[in-house]
Amino acid sequence: MSKALNILKEVFGYPAFRGQQAEVIAHLGDGGDCLVLMPTGGGKSLCYQIPALLRDGVAIVVSPLIALMQNQVAALNEIGVRAAVLNSSLSQQDAAQVEQKLLAGEYDLLYVAPERLLTARFLNLVTRIPVALFAIDEAHCVSQWGHDFRPEYSQLSVLHERFPKVPRIALTATADMVTRKEIVERLGLDVAKVFVSSFDRPNIRYQIIDKTNSRSQLLVFIQAEHPGDAGIVYCLSRKKVEETAAWLVDHGMRAVAYHAGMSMQERSQNQEKFLREEGIIMVATIAFGMGIDKPDVRFVAHLDLPKSIEGYYQETGRAGRDGQAANAWMVYGLGDVIQQRRMIEESQAQLKFKQVATQKLEAMLSLCETTTCRRIRLLSYFGETTDTVSCRNCDVCLNPPQVWDATVEVQKALSCVYRTGQNFGAGHLIDVLRGNLTERVKQWHHDRISTFGIGKDLPERTWRAVFRQIVALGLLTTDSEGHGALQLVEASRAVLKGQESVYLRLQAKPERSPGKRQTDDLVPLDSTERYLWEQLRSWRAKTAKEHGVPAYVIFHDATLHELVRLCPKTEDELRLVTGIGARKLDKYGNHLIEILRGC
Ligand code: ADP
Ligand code: ZN
Repeated sequence: MSKALNILKEVFGYPAFRGQQAEVIAHLGDGGDCLVLMPTGGGKSLCYQIPALLRDGVAIVVSPLIALMQNQVAALNEIGVRAAVLNSSLSQQDAAQVEQKLLAGEYDLLYVAPERLLTARFLNLVTRIPVALFAIDEAHCVSQWGHDFRPEYSQLSVLHERFPKVPRIALTATADMVTRKEIVERLGLDVAKVFVSSFDRPNIRYQIIDKTNSRSQLLVFIQAEHPGDAGIVYCLSRKKVEETAAWLVDHGMRAVAYHAGMSMQERSQNQEKFLREEGIIMVATIAFGMGIDKPDVRFVAHLDLPKSIEGYYQETGRAGRDGQAANAWMVYGLGDVIQQRRMIEESQAQLKFKQVATQKLEAMLSLCETTTCRRIRLLSYFGETTDTVSCRNCDVCLNPPQVWDATVEVQKALSCVYRTGQNFGAGHLIDVLRGNLTERVKQWHHDRISTFGIGKDLPERTWRAVFRQIVALGLLTTDSEGHGALQLVEASRAVLKGQESVYLRLQAKPERSPGKRQTDDLVPLDSTERYLWEQLRSWRAKTAKEHGVPAYVIFHDATLHELVRLCPKTEDELRLVTGIGARKLDKYGNHLIEILRGC
């Protein structure tokens, strides 16, 4: 293991292993199979990259996304590791050259797309060379239940059949048990050792707030907490993606869009821009994000409710991979609940799928409505328990919501649904409760029913929150025709009869963000430090451009920060900075010392 630690320090420039990295590397290094479950940003790549350097032969890495392999390989080349890509993006000539070098033993790592790997030609090629290991990245792509399903992944068991002696490592950030089981079964990893890390991402602050006007809320959030930062904004529909991106641009932000309806070229252009330039906001559907290993995404915002906690966690997990403070921010309202329920209802899927989808949605809703720590909820959903009751880094812990006895108000709401014939959505019901004489109210003579005006004492906002929560709690349902009409259910009866009380969350004040922006600790304070920071950043930008790689491939923000803080003046001192290995010291040491002379 001292060899592995040496590589970590010398090649990657990191002082110590994180979490279970050392155990995984030792196991794989000794030729054992394993399945590694680690959250995004946990440091999965090193788990196979270091054994690739320790063991004889080339490590073959299967990765589902062609567009992103290139960036990983660029980062490896940057630190002097011999790595290459083999996929359909290469010309025939380039591919032939890669194959040639592969046969000549000139690579430590080769990244391959699964469809390429499975060709008879490639498998034959592999029989002719020593292979250090097979790494199967994003292994949850074997799962038919997940939205990242890739049919080629289910054929990867062929690796074990053809090359039984070569150790395999499967990696994923998807935590739920069903997927875990599926990976083991489909990849034939029955005897593999499973390494499960904590899925906690302590640097991510979770916030779920009431939706009033999602776009302006988003703008306020970005302006207040993330000016100039890179972030991802998730929307449900393609149309909303485009509108939101355009709107942000109109408001002076550098935003780009991404969804499956765009041309391949446009998509990859925008993705590259997001990866390579600094401070770009990516507005996207969930089609975007798998395999994105940009470390400095400072926020992930959801303007629509995700379908499940798995999805939410995977998407929010793309924030703060570098371990620095980041925000997972979401707005959520009654419309979301109704829309998601309707989508399940209207889908053509089999009953079994609908049931699973409903359960997942219920869990997501209870996360939204919880009055206890969101992080603890999330972790317990993935089977992880903790002794603490507060994480001190989610909106609930920072700004605990009040709970109020809303039994009477809920009775009023339910009774209004009943009196109006269970034919109307929340907007109209609120008009009736608040005694608004709208055209619709007059048309249906709802000013003559007993619930007209009995809810004048509460503002519309509060009523919307009441309706949202009682739908989320399952005390009302939406009609099966999909008109958004709210209808009573069995559970409504007990409340109406006064046999059960209902406690609801009191909404937090709108737009108030809990606490101060945390990323401040990254930005140096006094003027000399700030000057150095800017110098380093512009040197990094220039260098990245010359090398044709994203800025973070040169150095992470954390490395620049440490440089400013420690102000190393010699090569030996530079060597101690996180993220500076032998190769980078060699290449950039002099430039850095030059810039840091001023401190
Ligand atoms: P994952 O694939 O699990 O999402 P990565 O392998 O991309 O995560 O690692 C996330 C970030 O953490 C990367 O920028 C990586 O360089 C960094 N990292 C990984 N291991 C260590 C370590 N032992 N010390 C410091 N940084 C690390
Ligand atoms: Zn918390």
